[in-house]
Amino acid sequence: MAKDPVCGMTVDDKSPYSSSYAGTIQVFCCSGCKAKFDKEPGRYAAPTAEDAKRGRRS
Ligand SMILES: [Zn+2]
Repeated sequence: MAKDPVCGMTVDDKSPYSSSYAGTIQVFCCSGCKAKFDKEPGRYAAPTAEDAKRGRRS
C-alpha cells in the first residue's frame, strides 16, 4: 500500500491515479488529488521525516 500525498489516505499501489515525481511514483485516491499534486508537486511530496514527525495513521 502507498499513501496519497495530497489527502493522506492509504491507496493501493496499483491505483490508476499516479504521477512520477523526483524518481518516485506517487499514487492518489482519485483524479482530483492527482490534479492537485500535478499542479504543485513540491507542496505535497513531503519528506519521509515529516511523515514520521506527524505520526502515521494506518
Ligand atoms: Zn486523495
